[in-house]
Amino acid sequence: MTDKLTWIDEELQNLHNAGLYNHIRTLGSPQGAWLVVDGKKALNFCSNNYLGLANHPRLVAAAKKAMDQYGVGPGAVRTIAGTMDMHVKLDQRLAEFKGVDAAITFQSGFTANLAVIPALVGKEDVIFSDALNHASIIDGCRLSRAKIIAYEHASATDLELQLKAHRANFRRALVVTDGVFSMDGDLAPLDEIYAVTQNYEAILMVDDAHGEGVVGKGGRGIVDHFKLHGKVDVEVGTMSKAFGVMGGVVAGNAKVVEWLRQRGRPFLFSSAMTIPDVAACLEAVDMLEESTELVDKLWDNANYFKKEMATLGFDTGKSVTPITPVMLGEAPLAQEFSRKLYEAGVFGMALGFPTVPRGKARIRVMISAAHAREDLDLGLEAFLRVGRQLGVIA
Ligand SMILES: *Cc1c(COP(=O)(O)O)cnc(C)c1O
Repeated sequence: MTDKLTWIDEELQNLHNAGLYNHIRTLGSPQGAWLVVDGKKALNFCSNNYLGLANHPRLVAAAKKAMDQYGVGPGAVRTIAGTMDMHVKLDQRLAEFKGVDAAITFQSGFTANLAVIPALVGKEDVIFSDALNHASIIDGCRLSRAKIIAYEHASATDLELQLKAHRANFRRALVVTDGVFSMDGDLAPLDEIYAVTQNYEAILMVDDAHGEGVVGKGGRGIVDHFKLHGKVDVEVGTMSKAFGVMGGVVAGNAKVVEWLRQRGRPFLFSSAMTIPDVAACLEAVDMLEESTELVDKLWDNANYFKKEMATLGFDTGKSVTPITPVMLGEAPLAQEFSRKLYEAGVFGMALGFPTVPRGKARIRVMISAAHAREDLDLGLEAFLRVGRQLGVIA
């Protein structure tokens, strides 16, 4: 009897052989500067918990209070019976925070992308997409059935060449880019992209998942960073990173938001965000509006860590954000480095293909406002020791 699933064993073995198998570690503690990882205490260099909000007492208290009042689940999709007053409030508060006309929330950033791209473009249309865009953007583009043209990463020059060559052959056009690229920590040149896009009647969309709560004034994101208020048609965001919770958002032009209430498929066919999620997100928005303290601490930490890593001789790529890639090259070396860090009490994940291109494997260190200076020093020491041991630095 042939097993019709034997191919999976073979494929998994291939992943092991290539050093690309995902070893998933399990946390036995809340998010924070320190974690219990597979039963062992370790310094956390992996989470997207930029501001330390994932286990913040204010967010926890807000979630508990809301659950006492509203229970746990929304009970339906937003369009039928799942829109509670707190969902409407979160939509409004996020729009205010971002300084845009309107916003609409989804279950995650991933579903926000799956909602908005197919709602804006279809079979007769074209999408110009940065070559390194996030998987959820790519999937949203594919779902739309529009023609997808990738332009060179972060190149407004190549974008213009592609627009010039192809735009006229299609009905509508969408230009879409990550704001902060999550694997390298570099920024899209959104000002230049805006300038180019203007001349070709294209909708401009940015996915600011790693920018919200991080870049711009008080963490208001990449549109604020480039002072492009009112010029970007669609901003996608997530509440799973700096906001420390879960949920996605599309913010921007009120017409787009209204259209998504009618045609955003994950809005129509998947249930609303849960009550504790919504309440915790509302609290996170309040905190970000009250003070820039956490965002400032995040940047102090990030600048310190990156400067010290460069002094030790590590290649931290072209990051201009708290995302700190430690470039190692081949995937097996990155995995070995990660194992040795873990033995030294530091949790730093190795990333390889297909998360990053082949030959560009790395440890990606995620700096957080939750880290104390001593935590960062301890991490630097571990990098120094392991880096020397594996011949990565002298
Ligand atoms: C993380 C990420 C997402 C997905 O966000 P979730 O809310 O976790 O689903 C989408 N886009 C980009 C660019 C991201 O980095």
